[in-house]
Amino acid sequence: MNESRPLSSDPQNDPSQPNGRLAMWRNRASLRTGRSFDLGKMNLPQLWMAYLTYPTILLYFALIVLTTTLCLRAHPPLMHVLIPVALVVAIYPITWYAIHRFILHGQWLYRNPLTAGLWKRIHFDHHQDPHLLDVLFGSPLNTIPTIAIIVTPLGYAVGGWPGAWAAIATGLAMTCVYEFFHCIQHLAYKPRSRWVARMKALHLLHHFHDEDGNYGITNYFPDRLFGSFYEDARSRPRSAHVFNLGYTVERAARFPWVMRQTGAPPRDRPEGAKPGSARPAA
Ligand SMILES: [Zn+2]
Ligand SMILES: [Zn+2]
Ligand SMILES: [Zn+2]
Repeated sequence: MNESRPLSSDPQNDPSQPNGRLAMWRNRASLRTGRSFDLGKMNLPQLWMAYLTYPTILLYFALIVLTTTLCLRAHPPLMHVLIPVALVVAIYPITWYAIHRFILHGQWLYRNPLTAGLWKRIHFDHHQDPHLLDVLFGSPLNTIPTIAIIVTPLGYAVGGWPGAWAAIATGLAMTCVYEFFHCIQHLAYKPRSRWVARMKALHLLHHFHDEDGNYGITNYFPDRLFGSFYEDARSRPRSAHVFNLGYTVERAARFPWVMRQTGAPPRDRPEGAKPGSARPAA
């Protein structure tokens, strides 16, 4: 699979080499390929740097500090904080699963000029080129309202406004964790931990084998519960729509809005993933 190929053999890019640290910074600058980081060309320290300085992630961090402060300032009873936190941690995987399976992989958002751009941004672009950090992270304009709408009533019902703030802070923190693991899954490296390696392999099956399964990012329990889990490439035939999510050239002719915004017809494989051809140099 595309992801498992070794990192660049250039010793300049290897942070364990004497020259590596400097090269790492230089490389980081050059990784901004116009407007995006390319995870296929990064290593783990570079990923941490890109993650921790990424504006969307910094915005989440700032909002976590803000909502936590708003919560604690009211000196709420412990349970008015702990119960909302636990509830949000518990519902997050199942909510993500439902959004990913039925909204992001639904076949309805691209059929309407009003929602086509949203769909392109929130998921189509990520499947077209799974390595680009800019479209891997959800847009905060989509994620923050979604989180707030789902968790605020829950937190408020348990603990009033402090409970609501605690719930929002937890939803944002869970999103940071999900985004980090999602990055790791698209980074061209082999995780040391078996648990992370397995999680990564399952998500890559979603991207490179059959998109209609393994919708979880860190948690595949909902996939098992609703029958969309699959263990390996042998369990299912390869899907023809794994990169275009069903938005084929024929569909694009009928529903052209995503194609118009992209400026090109949908691809049935990511750029540079053609067997036998090298990745284009950024
Ligand atoms: Zn890849
Ligand atoms: Zn992905
Ligand atoms: Zn997907």
